[in-house]
Amino acid sequence: MTTLDYRDRALHLERVALAAVAELFGTPCYVYSRAAIEAAYRAYDSAFGAAAHRVCYAVKANSNLAVLNVLARLGAGFDVVSGGELARVLRAGGKANQVVFSGVGKSTEELCQALAAGIACFNVESAAELERLNQVATELGLRAPVALRVNPDVDAGTHPYISTGLKENKFGIPADDALALYRCAASLPGLRVCGVACHIGAQMTDLAPLREAAGRIAALRLALLAENIAIDHVDLGGGLGIAYRDEVVPSAADYAAAISEPFAGSRVEISIEPGRSIVGPAGVLLTRVEYLKPGAGRNFAIIDAAMNDLLRPALYDAHHAVFPLRQAGGQTKVWELVGPVCESGDFLAHARSLALAEGDVLALRDAGAYGFAMSSNYNTRPRPPEVMVDGDKAYLIRARETLDDLWRGEEMLAN
Ligand SMILES: *Cc1c(COP(=O)(O)O)cnc(C)c1O
Repeated sequence: MTTLDYRDRALHLERVALAAVAELFGTPCYVYSRAAIEAAYRAYDSAFGAAAHRVCYAVKANSNLAVLNVLARLGAGFDVVSGGELARVLRAGGKANQVVFSGVGKSTEELCQALAAGIACFNVESAAELERLNQVATELGLRAPVALRVNPDVDAGTHPYISTGLKENKFGIPADDALALYRCAASLPGLRVCGVACHIGAQMTDLAPLREAAGRIAALRLALLAENIAIDHVDLGGGLGIAYRDEVVPSAADYAAAISEPFAGSRVEISIEPGRSIVGPAGVLLTRVEYLKPGAGRNFAIIDAAMNDLLRPALYDAHHAVFPLRQAGGQTKVWELVGPVCESGDFLAHARSLALAEGDVLALRDAGAYGFAMSSNYNTRPRPPEVMVDGDKAYLIRARETLDDLWRGEEMLAN
């Protein structure tokens, strides 16, 4: 769904001119489209047709309360990786019984919090965590619903920092150990085995590894059944990619068909945990050109957004397409878009052909996922505001931070 478009040479998100948003809320500024978020969620939800399924939005991609609330109203489930994210989901109107809890390092406090809330499933990532969860649940007189996150040893073929399904990754339980650990889980009084989970990586644009991983999980499910360990759902992870450049991305329908195929004829519920593909294309980061610094070697455009606002280019060498808010024409040059932070790695885009003038506002596309969520206050830079557009209206959903926000909790020594 294209919600980002030029009309009369002015870039719009839905029916809102982004220049008006920049004027009203200042720059840098994140802007998300409610319609794009809803369309992406609905595409997944309808892709499974009548088959039992659950779409759990991966909260870490963008955890703003308004984003979570929009998804909760559509009936989304949620995949959380911390007690903080669980609290956000509940605050935003999500239901605990639609929440799965992933992550390698859940603390005792987080296990207690999630048990007390009554979440749908703990995706357990180690034998030690299984033991701790059993102990905590037993003390509370509860049975924790568990799935083991199994590492199917499939190469997702994406960036090494976001590829998680190989033996050498810290994530999940090696496939060879899974059966023994399931037997152990089934014997523990504080646990109720209910599923199998896997997540082999992010930004996947090839269905083959996803299909292969689903096949391995289906085989494990049958091996469990043979031992009388019945599961009611398989969680096949997140990770369908988005077209940051010109990647060809499979449709939600093809994705659903590929991962469901090994389970055809069974009544097991299929759940998925997409994050990036739901919010990524729905968001832009607006930034203003502060200074132009053309040079013999390279032309630098110094913009008011930096690596603290959008870390992905510095961290993964990620690409975000750049669009001027006003289609002006004029002489283009090849520019490096760099921020004001004191690091050579502080760039947001390399070698972009643009016609730029001081004061121009640009939109970095596909910034809705892992954008604000990974932002920091490095260089004592207040984090940008977040705005959601809905039709022809723009709503502030997080105010720009103030300096008081930044030093809240800090104390000077009295002597
Ligand atoms: C990060 C993550 C996701 C979401 O991945 P996306 O690439 O944002 O879709 C889903 N599940 C788990 C366990 C994750 O760690």
